[in-house]
Amino acid sequence: MADKIYRVNMTTLTTSVEAVPAAWAGHGGRGLTSTIVAAEVEPTCHPLGAKNKLVIAPGLLSGTVAANSGRLSIGAKSPLTGTIKEANAGGTAAQLLARAGCKALIIEGLPKGDAWYSLALTPEGVTIQEESELIGKGNFAVVETLGKRFTEKLGVLTIGQAGEMRMRAANISIKDPDGGLRSCGRGGLGAVMGSKKIKFITVNPKDGKVAIANPEKFKEANKAFSKALVDHPVSQALGQYGTNVLVNIINESGGLPTKNFTGGQFAGHESISGETMHDTISQRGGKVKHNCHAGCVIQCSQIYNDAGGKKLTSGFEYESIWAMGADCCVDNLDHIALADKLMDDIGIDTIETSVAMGVAMEAGVLPFGDGLGICRILEEEVAKGTTLGRIIGNGAGSVGIAFGITRVPVVKNQAIPAYDPRAIKGIGITYATSTQGADHTMGYTIATNILSVGGKVDPLTNVGQVELSRNLQIATAAIDSTGMCLFIAFAALDNAACLPALIDLINARYGLSLTGDDVVNLGKYILKTERAFNTAAGFTAADDRLPEFFYTEPLPPHNVTFDFKGEEIDTFWNF
Ligand code: SF4
Repeated sequence: MADKIYRVNMTTLTTSVEAVPAAWAGHGGRGLTSTIVAAEVEPTCHPLGAKNKLVIAPGLLSGTVAANSGRLSIGAKSPLTGTIKEANAGGTAAQLLARAGCKALIIEGLPKGDAWYSLALTPEGVTIQEESELIGKGNFAVVETLGKRFTEKLGVLTIGQAGEMRMRAANISIKDPDGGLRSCGRGGLGAVMGSKKIKFITVNPKDGKVAIANPEKFKEANKAFSKALVDHPVSQALGQYGTNVLVNIINESGGLPTKNFTGGQFAGHESISGETMHDTISQRGGKVKHNCHAGCVIQCSQIYNDAGGKKLTSGFEYESIWAMGADCCVDNLDHIALADKLMDDIGIDTIETSVAMGVAMEAGVLPFGDGLGICRILEEEVAKGTTLGRIIGNGAGSVGIAFGITRVPVVKNQAIPAYDPRAIKGIGITYATSTQGADHTMGYTIATNILSVGGKVDPLTNVGQVELSRNLQIATAAIDSTGMCLFIAFAALDNAACLPALIDLINARYGLSLTGDDVVNLGKYILKTERAFNTAAGFTAADDRLPEFFYTEPLPPHNVTFDFKGEEIDTFWNF
């Protein structure tokens, strides 16, 4: 089935199916969303206005049986950062969109009037329906109701109340194979979908299949690729303890941001660690290993039950556990799991919202350590859109402004995640220079700074950090275009067979003969395209900096500051 561009105009409530322009044909995932946003969105437009567009694109390998290839990219101008934005997640939608022949779904315009809508995508095109029953409902109700409303197994993308209220931390959630949710979490993309008054999108590929140009080569490459993934020790640790294996490791390094970034170690780290989580899940009959889409061979996800053995949450990630745990000083994993479930239901980014809670704690809105207080605010304030709920739902920067707090850990107004840039300096360069605000996944230097994957760069000195972040950001931009989960990067950095096998997969899928240099050039092109959009939107080198307190407040236990000069940071873009 030939790939097509599906376009929806919410102003005229019309849809069309278009051929893929030649300039877009070689792109997928982030490469495609950023190319389309840069080509079609005015950089200075209001992110919640009619001129912004929401672009949804499966990766180059999505819909095939290639291991770990079911990641979906969603892009737009971000209402949180004002920059270009791409957020990606697993779940079933990427594979189903690819099988439906959808290269990208572009949603533009804003509807007049108060009605809400849903979209249904099939190989024939997209239809728009008015929706009333699910408006005001959380994401779990959407997934459950659609499961009853339709007999077919559909992909579902949905927004919760946060997206409906256009909160800048709102995410877009994607149904996983078990009816759980995975989130395109960062940058407020749920608010963009909410501004277009779309509550949910269903995907039905019918009997559509992805064409493979050279099936034998594809099979062979996938075998080598899968082997490289499962053989890597970090993949194995992720399968056993999930991403939360990092709590004890980052705490040991002195880079676990604690009590709104005032310390680098958390006294309660054992209670919230991956090891404790693993034992708790086992004792309560949950699942320690779980995949967010079919074909994942690492399985870092899990199902976490409550003390009564009933499912509490799934996809319980290190960054969420760190944010509600160490950053808010909550050492009760059950309280964190309940907050995680509530945020999934409301449809709000767990990192942004929990860092916002940490800033609110510093402001005295609730005490540090009050996990049930976080849950109460989520249920009674954020989900209901009270004044406090909207202040928190608009992110950490919004809380800092509302309460006059100066220690607000954001870059380009996006909350800094789970690794303190003073004690792990490479990640500080990534936070500062990322085209999308503070985001560890843009160039995950933790691999080399802390886990000694792909070599070792001392996290506490400035030497080699700019180059490390640059290389990883270029590689990540390319990986984000394939539909691959980022956790393939560990094997790609250490195992010489992994990256060639990935390139062989792309070549066999499309009948191409790409080389490693082509992949590097793709990554560079994506970063430069994104930066050009940001420059046209008004961003300058002065925005590629961390908040002042990282330069002035030494972080215990190493008592280090972030001491890069602006000119050093700016050399990142010398490529
Ligand atoms: S490793 Fe984790 S994030 Fe990656 S595809 Fe598997 S379950 Fe999803």
